Amino acid sequence: MAADTGDGEAGARRADAAAAPGEAREPAVDESELDRICLHNLLSASADNIYFKDRDSNFLRASASAAAYTGAKDPATMIGRPASAYFTEEQAAATVEIEQMIMRTGTAVTDHEESHMRSPTGDEVCLSTSKQPLRDFDGRIIGTFGISRDITARKNAESELVARTAELDRVGRELRMLIDTSPDPMSRFDRELRCSYANPAAAELTGLSLDAILGHTIGEMGFSAQFTRDWDDALREVLETGAGVERELSLLAGGREIFLNTRFVPEVTEEEGRVRSILTVSRDLTERRRIEQALAERAVRDPLTGLPNRTLLVSRIKQAIELDADRGRLALLFLDLDRFKLVNDGLGHAVGDELLTAVAGRLRQAVRRGDLVARFGGDEFVVLCENLEDQREAAVVAEHVCQSLTPPFSCAGKQVHMSASIGIALSEGRSSTADSLLRDADAAMYEAKASESATGGYRFFAPAARKTVVRRVDLEHELRRAGEQSEFELVYQPVVELADGRVTGAEALIRWRHPERGLLPPAEFIGIAEDSGLVIPIGRWALETACRQLAEWDRAQPTGRRLNMAVNLSPRQLSHDPDLVDAVANALSRNALPSSRLCLEVTETAVHRASPLARSSLETLPAAGVQFALDDYGTGFSSLAHLRDVPVAALKVDRLFVAGLGARGDDAIVVAVITLAHALGMKVVAEGVETAQQRARLLELGCDYGQGFLFSLPLEPEAFSSLLDDPAGACLNP
Ligand code: C2E
Ligand code: CA
Ligand code: CA
Repeated sequence: MAADTGDGEAGARRADAAAAPGEAREPAVDESELDRICLHNLLSASADNIYFKDRDSNFLRASASAAAYTGAKDPATMIGRPASAYFTEEQAAATVEIEQMIMRTGTAVTDHEESHMRSPTGDEVCLSTSKQPLRDFDGRIIGTFGISRDITARKNAESELVARTAELDRVGRELRMLIDTSPDPMSRFDRELRCSYANPAAAELTGLSLDAILGHTIGEMGFSAQFTRDWDDALREVLETGAGVERELSLLAGGREIFLNTRFVPEVTEEEGRVRSILTVSRDLTERRRIEQALAERAVRDPLTGLPNRTLLVSRIKQAIELDADRGRLALLFLDLDRFKLVNDGLGHAVGDELLTAVAGRLRQAVRRGDLVARFGGDEFVVLCENLEDQREAAVVAEHVCQSLTPPFSCAGKQVHMSASIGIALSEGRSSTADSLLRDADAAMYEAKASESATGGYRFFAPAARKTVVRRVDLEHELRRAGEQSEFELVYQPVVELADGRVTGAEALIRWRHPERGLLPPAEFIGIAEDSGLVIPIGRWALETACRQLAEWDRAQPTGRRLNMAVNLSPRQLSHDPDLVDAVANALSRNALPSSRLCLEVTETAVHRASPLARSSLETLPAAGVQFALDDYGTGFSSLAHLRDVPVAALKVDRLFVAGLGARGDDAIVVAVITLAHALGMKVVAEGVETAQQRARLLELGCDYGQGFLFSLPLEPEAFSSLLDDPAGACLNP
C-alpha cells in the first residue's frame, strides 16, 4: 500500500515532473526515477513520521508510519485532510499555529516537543518534531513538511530518572537531617582511622569542636588509651573482615564516665566491594547504666541506712567462708536493739527511722576497718568480721559496738538511750554455712537478751549448747516425775503500793526442788515445760496452790487486808488449755475466793498471737471478774497502739526499763507507757525495783505499784505469813 502513495488518485496532483515510473529492473539506476524511488522508500519505510502539508495545513503526503500513528491506516486517505481529522481540536490548533508561523517567517522549528499526543491506542506519547517550510524550486513557500519522532520511551526513562534523582535527593536530605538531629552520636572514619564526619550529637557527647574531631584519629582527640585502643581495634576489624561489629565502650568526657554501645558499619565501594569507610552509630548508655547500677545497688542496700541488706550480707558471708578456708578466723555478730519497738511506737516511726540511721552510723564507726555492717531487718544488724587474730578480737568488736551505743541518741529533740544484745558465732571452717552462722549468732543473741544484764551485752554461741538437746530430753522426763513427786514449790513476792509501801498482793513464782541439783529457778525448766506441754498441768498446780495459799492467809488474818494473788500463765496455757476457764473457776470456788482477788499474768506476745481459744479465755475470764495483767511489758513485739485492744487491768513494766530509769535516763518510754496505760484505765506495776531512786522516779511518773528486791525478795509461804503478821512489815517502805 505504501508503494501506491505516490501513484494513487493523488498521482494526478503530483507537482514535480522529476519522478518517473520505475519499471526498470536493471541493476543500473534509472536516474529519472531516482527522486520518486527515494521519496517512496522514505515515506514507506521511515520509522519517524514524515509528512508534507499545504499552506492550509492539509496533508499533501504522509509516511506509512505517520498513517499508523494517526490511525489512518492508509497514508493515501490522509491527503487533503487537516490535522483536526486525527488529533484533538486543541492539538490540531497548536499544529496549525506553528505551521502558519513557519510559513510566515520562513524559519524552521527543530526538536519541538509535542507531548500528550494521543495515538489511536490511547497511549500518551511524546513526539520530537522538526518542521520546515516546504518550498518549490523557485523558493516559494507552498506549505510545510515535518518529521516527528516518538520519544515517549526516552522521555519516560528521563522523567523516571529525574524522579529517582529527586527521590534520592530527598532521602539523602532526610537522612542527613536525621543524622544531624539524631540524639545518637554518629561518625564516619576513613581507612586511616581518621574521622571524616561527626554529627552534632557526637560533638556534644565528646565535648569537642568539629575542628578537633574532623581529620583526626581517636587518639589524637585526646581520649584515654583504653578507649582509643578499643575504638581503633573495632575499626581495624571492620576494615579487615568487611563485616560490621558492635562494641560496648566507655570513655571519659567532660569529667564524667560515658558508656556507649557502638555499631561499626562498613561502607563498601560499589565497584570493588572494598571497605571505603566505616560509619559508627553509638547509643549513649550512661543513663541506663546509672539506673541499672542504682537498681542493683538498691537490690543489695537497705534504703534507710544505706547499709548492705540481707541479700548482700549472705553473699558476703559465703565469700568470706570461702576465703577463710579452714582457718576459722571468721565471726558473725548478730545485733538486736533492745526495746526498739517501744521507741518506734512510742515516739513515732520517723524517730524510729532516724534512730536506726544513727545506730547504723555508730556501728560503722565502731567496727574494725574492713568489717561489714549489714542491716538484717527491723532493728537487727549483723557485723561480719574476717581475719580475726583470735576469738577475743570478736569480743572486742562486740564491746566497741556496745560502747558506741551508750551515749544517748538525740532524735526529734529527745534523748533516747539504746542498747543492743549481741550474739557472736565463730566459723568452724568449711563446715560452716551462711545459714548456720546466722542461726548460731541469732541464738546467741537471744541468750544475751535473756541474760540478766539490763544494758544489753554479748554472748558467744556455745557449740556445747547443742548438747543441751540431749539434756532437754532427760529434763523432760525429770519434769514429769517432778509433777508426780510434788517437787514444785511456790514462792511469793510482795507487790506494794508505791506511794506508801503497803503490801497489796503477791506474785506466785514457781521453783523446782530438784533432788540432785537443788532449788531451780523457772528459767531452768519453764521453757521445756512449755515446749513439752507439761506447763499445762504444772500451771494448774500453781494456780490451785496459789489460791489455796491466799485463802490460808485470809483465814490467818480474819480482820487483815485482803491481798490479791498474781499467778503467771504461760502462753501455752492460754492457747492450748481448753479447760483453763474451768480450772480458774474451780480454784477460786474451792477456796471460796472472789474472782477479783486473782490476777493472771500473761505476756504481750501471748496476747497478740492469741489463738481463738486464748481469745475466748481472754474475754470470758475478765467477764467473770478475773483480772489480767500484761507481764514483762516492753520486751515483746507488741506496740503501744495495740494496748487498747487488750482486756487487761494492769501493765507490768519490765525490769529492764526500771533498771534504765534515773541512771540511764530512759524515761521517755516509761512516761509513754504509764500515760497510755492510765488513759486506758489500766494500773501500772513496775517490776524489779531495786533502788530508792528508781522508786522515787516511778512515783514521780505516776506509777501505781512496785515489786522488787527493794521491797522484798520472793518469799517462802511462811516468811510471807510472818511479814503479814508483823504490823510494820506489812508496809514495805524503806
Ligand atoms: P516474771 O513474771 O517477770 O517474774 C518476776 C521475776 O523477777 C522473778 O524471777 C523474780 O524473782 C524476779 N525479780 C523480782 N524482783 C526483782 C528485782 O528487784 N531484781 C531482779 N533482777 N529480779 C527480780 P523468777 O522467779 O526467776 O521467775 C522468772 C520468770 O519465770 C517469771 O518472770 C515468770 O515469767 C516465770 N514464772 C515464774 N513462775 C511461774 C509459773 O508459776 N508459771 C509460769 N508459766 N511461769 C512462771
Ligand atoms: Ca510475772
Ligand atoms: Ca515480768
